[in-house]
Amino acid sequence: MAQVLSGHGCFGEYLSRIGRERGPRCHHCGADQDTAQHTLEQCPSWAGERRVLVNRIGGDLSLPSVIRAIVGSERSWCAFASFCEEVMSQKEAAERVREAEDPDRQP
Ligand SMILES: [Zn+2]
Repeated sequence: MAQVLSGHGCFGEYLSRIGRERGPRCHHCGADQDTAQHTLEQCPSWAGERRVLVNRIGGDLSLPSVIRAIVGSERSWCAFASFCEEVMSQKEAAERVREAEDPDRQP
């Protein structure tokens, strides 16, 4: 959850900014920029997880709206926590694979 809320985490834009990836693109759909907001709102790879979240907190996935929803309802909080956990664990697993395939990638 902290990764999605802060943008500091397993996102191409952030990883390239801190020198852990060569570019900001999304490895899961090919979009030019992988950010927390791309992951939360747009990336087609997480459509299934997003559908569950939207069913609980509604279609506005802007950060202010998400925060309003999750602090207002424990069930919304849990739905958002599940989305973050499921998606970020898959993104982190994919990053570990990329690291293993290209060990020189990190400085
Ligand atoms: Zn994507």
